[in-house]
Amino acid sequence: TAPLLSVRDLTKTFPTRSGMFSRNKLAVHAVDGVSFDIGQGQTLGVVGESGCGKSTTGRCILRLIEPSGGSVVFDGKDVLALDAKGQQALRRDMQIIFQDPFASLNPRMTVGAIVAEAMTIHGLGADAADRRARVATLLARVGLKPEHMGRYPHEFSGGQRQRIGIARALAVEPKLIVCDEAVSALDVSVQAQVLNLLKDLQDELGLAYMFIAHDLSVVENVSDRIAVMYLGRVVEIADAADLYARPQHPYTEALLSAIPIPEPGRRKTRRKLEGEMPNPITPPGGCHFHTRCPIRKLPLCATERPEMKPCSAGHMVACHLRG
Ligand code: SF4
Ligand code: MG
Repeated sequence: TAPLLSVRDLTKTFPTRSGMFSRNKLAVHAVDGVSFDIGQGQTLGVVGESGCGKSTTGRCILRLIEPSGGSVVFDGKDVLALDAKGQQALRRDMQIIFQDPFASLNPRMTVGAIVAEAMTIHGLGADAADRRARVATLLARVGLKPEHMGRYPHEFSGGQRQRIGIARALAVEPKLIVCDEAVSALDVSVQAQVLNLLKDLQDELGLAYMFIAHDLSVVENVSDRIAVMYLGRVVEIADAADLYARPQHPYTEALLSAIPIPEPGRRKTRRKLEGEMPNPITPPGGCHFHTRCPIRKLPLCATERPEMKPCSAGHMVACHLRG
């Protein structure tokens, strides 16, 4: 069966701030040829340091920002060709949850009004009473109380606010939710609770997730597949278990060795990542990772872009020396 979401060669270029004041306009290739699929009811974890383009990728898929190129097919529809009506329908089928739900929850609206508003926009619910009943059910489903309906966002903790964001996303019965660093700001124990809630909802409702995080440990237990991004490109993609057991890209190895190892001996290769993330406006040539790569081979790695290639079933890597 066709995947629910299929992204091919997605690109997004931004003019830079300095470019606006100089004659030579510089462009940041925030997303630089990204491809992946997400199956119905599946989770793709997307991981990389800040500035790697993971959030921009998520926003392009929802057309919250316009991609510069490539293709996005969702549920059989060409997302980048949708007219206004089609985009409205897309906004229902694909929802997004942000890192800071507080910033996206209107402080002047009650929780009940916030969740009901999402339904009203998409013409869901027979009338106000019906929507109210649905809101009560949704709040209970995400671990809040129906009587929370009349309260305001500032009356809730970070974890509770994220639950409100989830209830609002669920209110329109989406097929895919982009979780953009959705648990990154939460304490570890609260993180685990919200992750468990998202997993339960997935099992119950058949939701697909694109789960964006900067840390591989966060996505491990929720992802079916994982894509690792570096400076706008996917450098490795694999089934989650395969990625953790047999990482191929030196950058993935570096990210993994930053995670405390619960079982000694589970990972053979431990590498420290040298240096800072390069400026995305002027990324290193060839393999973007070559300035930090412990196994680089020069001049090859500095001059030729490594393309994604299969290294085993369902496992792709972009490295001249691997795969
Ligand atoms: Fe390292 Fe070269 Fe592979 Fe890039 S292509 S990850 S620089 S070995
Ligand atoms: Mg699952």
